[in-house]
Amino acid sequence: MSILVVGSVAFDDLKTPSEEAKNIVGGAATYFALSASHFTDVNIVAVVGNDFTEREKKIFDGRSIDVAGLETADGKTFRWGGEYNADLTKRTTLFTELGVFENFQPVIPDHYKQSKLVFLANIHPDLQVDVMNQVQNPGLIGADTMNYWIERTPKELAQMLAGIDVLVINDEEARQLAEVHNLVRAAAKILQMGPKTLVIKRGEYGVLCFREGERFATVSYPLETVIDPTGAGDSFAGGFMGYLATQGEVTDPVVRRAIIFGSVLGSFCVEDLGTRRLEQLQRDEVHERYQSFKELTDFASL
Ligand code: AMP
Repeated sequence: MSILVVGSVAFDDLKTPSEEAKNIVGGAATYFALSASHFTDVNIVAVVGNDFTEREKKIFDGRSIDVAGLETADGKTFRWGGEYNADLTKRTTLFTELGVFENFQPVIPDHYKQSKLVFLANIHPDLQVDVMNQVQNPGLIGADTMNYWIERTPKELAQMLAGIDVLVINDEEARQLAEVHNLVRAAAKILQMGPKTLVIKRGEYGVLCFREGERFATVSYPLETVIDPTGAGDSFAGGFMGYLATQGEVTDPVVRRAIIFGSVLGSFCVEDLGTRRLEQLQRDEVHERYQSFKELTDFASL
């Protein structure tokens, strides 16, 4: 089953304690697609400006990623700048320039319209809703959002949340969205807003998942070196949705395994700056780390 993803394809400026880079290809849809393409075919719906040339598009080459829905419009590509503190626990957004995303009217290519799995990566909630409405009969819709949209577009966000199955956000966003500090209570409130499954990413502390009658928690994979957390959340979502796409149904055990695959992809993402590690990543490494995750968290079968 292929996945349709809508989200940002961007130029990022990144400042981490160990490395810095300007104008590197990023964006939520980019990290998502690179990660999910280890599991299934990914169809991207996004827009870039004419400063995003064939050279930049090469990042999608040679993978199971279809860019027929990646439109090039007159203007500037979405740009985002972020800076991390010394221990990488806090990120400050330096700037967000929507560029061509400001006037983007997504047109879903006909061969994407039958997609059974849809992921609405972090972007204006109106665009997320627009894409959701154009897909005929989707089996499962996942989505992400961030503080930027929670603060600026709460009504549009509520409409998006009402139409989705799975919400994948971080702990800070969950608290902000629910206006409740305690995550268990915040989760209960968010599940009332529409999604049937809520996955809360807690950075280096792992993931919490809430569904009706089911809770699951895992740690994040312990790494010796972390260079850049940018894109970890989108890579998590890519691994998570990618694994779901390989399974016929969405049961509690399938969701648990999808969370581990998501955590595996997130862990690779942070090992290098921007998309660097994901671009090198091989499928057997994904499966090796999944096995190693299994051993790491097993306390019952020994
Ligand atoms: P993450 O680290 O998972 O939150 O994702 C980082 C990516 O999100 C970067 O590559 C940015 O280009 C992209 N991004 C940052 N802010 C926004 C926003 N307001 N809308 C869409 N994408 C964004």
